[in-house]
Amino acid sequence: MKHIDITISELAFFGGEPKFKERLFVGRPNIGNRDRLLDRINDMLDRRWLSNNGVFVQEFELQVAKYLGVKHCIAVCNGTIALELVIRALELKGEVIIPSFTFIATAHALQWQEITPVFCDVDPKTHTLNPWQLESLITPRTSGIIGVHVWGQPCDVETLTEVANKHHLKLMFDASHAFGCSHRGTMLGNFGTAEVFSFHATKFINTFEGGAIVTNDSELNQKLRLMKNFGFAGFDNVIYLGTNGKMSEISAAMGLTSLESLEEFIEVNRHNYLCYLEGLAGIPGVSLFPMNEAEKHNYQYVVLEIDEEQTQVSRDLLLKILHAENVIARRYFYPGCHRMEPYRSYFPHAGLLLPETEKLARRVLILPTGTATSKADVSKICQIIRFVVVSQFNDYELNSSRIDDI
Ligand SMILES: *Cc1c(COP(=O)(O)O)cnc(C)c1O
Repeated sequence: MKHIDITISELAFFGGEPKFKERLFVGRPNIGNRDRLLDRINDMLDRRWLSNNGVFVQEFELQVAKYLGVKHCIAVCNGTIALELVIRALELKGEVIIPSFTFIATAHALQWQEITPVFCDVDPKTHTLNPWQLESLITPRTSGIIGVHVWGQPCDVETLTEVANKHHLKLMFDASHAFGCSHRGTMLGNFGTAEVFSFHATKFINTFEGGAIVTNDSELNQKLRLMKNFGFAGFDNVIYLGTNGKMSEISAAMGLTSLESLEEFIEVNRHNYLCYLEGLAGIPGVSLFPMNEAEKHNYQYVVLEIDEEQTQVSRDLLLKILHAENVIARRYFYPGCHRMEPYRSYFPHAGLLLPETEKLARRVLILPTGTATSKADVSKICQIIRFVVVSQFNDYELNSSRIDDI
């Protein structure tokens, strides 16, 4: 790979010009065919059917279920409501075991219903729940487990299923990152009693805001359909406690349009991933979270792990250097749910049982990818990282400019 010439004073962090004129973001939305979307929006306006199980929502649910090979898909207004609905429909209570290494919504969806999230550590290789520690956290109050397929990396679903069955616990998955990913040839969405997706703007497939619950359990499907629509079973007939979790038609229009471009999004993401793999190869202390090429994957997250002992540059300094260059890298899920409120106050010592989560939260750096990121962008980002870590890794100026936090 050709190196760009950078000298230390040219880094924007030290007053140079940023290498990118416009900021590059993690999770810039993937947008499908604009004309197809606008046609759908026109149809929708002509029909004057904007919400309440419209034709686009129905079509979107069918297509998602078909794509995943799952019996039922319930489209909802966002991933957090999807989690809350399943948690309630499964009658979870007391304590539910989840990873702390996840987006805060996984924990909040429980606490919101006064269920205690019990934080379990993750396997440092897969970044997902460690089923062996999990078993030791089960108490008489435990009612369920929520695994998170973080970065689209499948949880150890076999062991989790075994542990859940052995202890008569409900098992569900937060698959917010995992649309389009498979495990041993089966699409994620088919595991546990139910799985939940987010179609937030930053996710692989988006519906502006949106989410879905998928399940092979027909009774649960019936219950969730009532719950997401105030418990209505026809005009004037409420037969259950419910909320408003409905997906709107314009969201489903975006969802259908996104699905049409799904393979193209994967192709772009995969190409970017391979460019990162090549561009970062051999930089000491910098490793790219590996994607299993034998499985289907959406390649939506480019996840670096920074081993500071080797790089001699802290992850947080690297983050600042990249931000100064207009590369808005992110530290997902720093500092971990257990270090955020209200959990930090409730469980001030939770970190003692979460050594791998704490290490990971200090190591991980997420880089931009998706259809808004070009191959040239990726190669420039890699060259900046290589320069900072390799060429200058003994430079006193860098090492003396550690600043605590952003
Ligand atoms: C995005 C996300 C959610 C929440 O989804 P929203 O659609 O934003 O409500 C939940 N869990 C994880 C792991 C997520 O990344």
